[in-house]
Amino acid sequence: MPNSLRALIHSSAAHPARTIPCPHCHASAGKPCTLRTNGRHLPAPHPQRVSAWAQQTAICPECQTTPGTPCHQDGLPLRYVHDRRTTEAKETAA
Ligand SMILES: [Zn+2]
Ligand SMILES: [Zn+2]
Repeated sequence: MPNSLRALIHSSAAHPARTIPCPHCHASAGKPCTLRTNGRHLPAPHPQRVSAWAQQTAICPECQTTPGTPCHQDGLPLRYVHDRRTTEAKETAA
């Protein structure tokens, strides 16, 4: 697992990504992510949620996409936004 992803998972409980619904576990906006297997709350949002939140919130410093548009690399959309975009979104939210 890349360090950046690990950092996301272990980031603070009140993550600003909670302001949007989770595309992975379908937690509503404002609700914590849950494990689908046992319904337990996760201490941090799913990486997919953080990525979706960064995509809505920030312009990507790496590929210059506007808010709402997925990051892309070599003309192909990325499944997750660039790390720098997540950082940018966190700085905007802070
Ligand atoms: Zn989730
Ligand atoms: Zn990007």
